[in-house]
Amino acid sequence: MYLRELSCTECDRTVTATELRRLCPSCGSPLQACYDLEAIREAVTPAEVTGRNGGMWRFREVLPDPGEPITFGEGDTPLLRTPRLGNAIGLGSLWVKDEGVNPTGSFKARGMSAAVSMAKALGATALTAPSAGNAGGALAAYGARAGLPVHIAMPRDVPAANRIEAEICGAHVTLIDGNIKDCGKWVGERAEREGWFDVSTLKEPYRVEGKKTMGYELAMQLDWTLPDVILYPTGGGTGLVGMWKAFAEMRELGWVTAKPPRMIAVQAKDCAPVVEAFHAGAERITAPESPATIASGLRVPTPIGDRWMLRVVRESEGTAIAVTDDELLEGCRRLARDEGIFTAPEAGALVIACEKLVADGTLATDERTVLFLTGTGLKYLECF
Ligand SMILES: *Cc1c(COP(=O)(O)O)cnc(C)c1O
Ligand SMILES: [Zn+2]
Repeated sequence: MYLRELSCTECDRTVTATELRRLCPSCGSPLQACYDLEAIREAVTPAEVTGRNGGMWRFREVLPDPGEPITFGEGDTPLLRTPRLGNAIGLGSLWVKDEGVNPTGSFKARGMSAAVSMAKALGATALTAPSAGNAGGALAAYGARAGLPVHIAMPRDVPAANRIEAEICGAHVTLIDGNIKDCGKWVGERAEREGWFDVSTLKEPYRVEGKKTMGYELAMQLDWTLPDVILYPTGGGTGLVGMWKAFAEMRELGWVTAKPPRMIAVQAKDCAPVVEAFHAGAERITAPESPATIASGLRVPTPIGDRWMLRVVRESEGTAIAVTDDELLEGCRRLARDEGIFTAPEAGALVIACEKLVADGTLATDERTVLFLTGTGLKYLECF
């Protein structure tokens, strides 16, 4: 057990990690897990980690320790070269990390495996979260496997697959007339009163730990090197900040020496608060007035991790870019046609974003570029 404590991402506050925790008790910002990296460096080598099985839990030294993890074998997703698409876009070294093959069809599985495992280990007796897409199905599945009741608030227009998946896994689903923010309000009002532990994005510290394993796994698959550029479809931003945390930890562990990649946040035109704040030079986002996109995972008008995300994009010397809904669907079609991968609309956005960034010179044609395909297209059939 190498987890030392939790520290605030915005102020100096630290708290113990031995009980259920949510936001920073001083300032209400997200908390992050801090490990004894020196001890980990002594205890395990990257070669040993590479030789293990166990999906994302192979990285157990840099994860919280729940005893027995609640797992379906998440992680170990393929990193694939996509030369035909790369050629069409003008990139000589284009890769995709296909997170759609995870249990429940998206990378949300990684976050929920960590969060639900720790919630159960620390004594939670029921779980809740708002979800406009894949998080709800993943929470329902991991909750069922943990034997814990789950309460999910979803916008009425959530993709059918996400709602049905949650219900069939036994979750109590409440449909709300509104967006993810309204669902969050519903959850916030009930969680404390009912004694449900709220695992909303970044409102507890361990979903981001699960998602950071995408960064570790990517480095492992590249023989402990890193790509030049990562494009990431950004909603709540957990994957983006999680991977950046992984790169910093790996550098400190001495597991990688490469310069960390430029992180490029991709959003949908009519719900692009991070893109707008980035280009305005702002530290915080301004909520879009009528957030709309068929890419349900990107429909996050008021992400609580906004400062953290913006810091990561800037520190990494990355950028942020938005594409329209028509464009992101076209991105899905092109990836499927060229490479045989049917990805979620959120990730389809990356194809078009990438092409635009090559065209305007932001991406050089020889840069090793990885697109994070966060989910499978099969859960979004009505979009096509
Ligand atoms: C949730 C989700 C996202 C956004 O993820 P964050 O890490 O919260 O920004 C992107 N794509 C898909 C398919 C998702 O389900
Ligand atoms: Zn704080």
